[in-house]
Amino acid sequence: MSGTPNKDETPKKDMKDVFAAVENIRCAIQRSQKFVEEFLSEPMCGKCHPCALGSYEALVRLKRISSGRGKQDDVAAIQRIADEMLEASRCIKGKDTAKFLLEELKKESFREHLEGHCAERECPSYVMYKVIPEKCVLCGLCQEACKYNAITGEKKVSFLSGYLPFEIRQKRCVKCGDCVTACHYGAIEIIEEKSGVPV
Ligand code: SF4
Ligand code: SF4
Ligand code: SF4
Repeated sequence: MSGTPNKDETPKKDMKDVFAAVENIRCAIQRSQKFVEEFLSEPMCGKCHPCALGSYEALVRLKRISSGRGKQDDVAAIQRIADEMLEASRCIKGKDTAKFLLEELKKESFREHLEGHCAERECPSYVMYKVIPEKCVLCGLCQEACKYNAITGEKKVSFLSGYLPFEIRQKRCVKCGDCVTACHYGAIEIIEEKSGVPV
């Protein structure tokens, strides 16, 4: 099974591919998560414990941070894992992964995420989409564009009054952004979930 420690196989993925996969990602959390995911996307040889076990734990903790549930403990654990991997990894792949994580950990981004802020706007969990009622003309284009049935509201009909306003059901919204593209009136804004500030 992919991603399961297996002493008979060594990771075949070239680290150049792993670095290439994160080239265009700006957010330190997303970059780190993708890097470790790519590193673990093939069977792990499992020869050194800090790498074999630590990289899985690092991934779990990075996912917790990127989903907005991260704590200082998670950052401290990733730091400890990366330090141990650098020290004890027997191959360049483990060491490269450790070095990558240690570089990312130096960035302010980790602290900012714990405070609910993704400066690069690449963590979907940190933002929400909202209809601005004052700008909404009840055309219904956003509702038609949303594949996830996440928008409630009634289109304006000339001979009727008392419309149900357009709103986004946050539990259904996957933050794909299609509604923003569909709305010709700039009536859907993206705001930071924690502060409510438009991004
Ligand atoms: S550091 Fe290299 S040899 Fe050791 S477990 Fe990781 S991939 Fe395998
Ligand atoms: S597309 Fe824009 S203006 Fe039309 S209903 Fe949706 S939010 Fe309102
Ligand atoms: S962001 Fe995507 S899922 Fe969310 S309401 Fe808009 S179209 Fe629907």
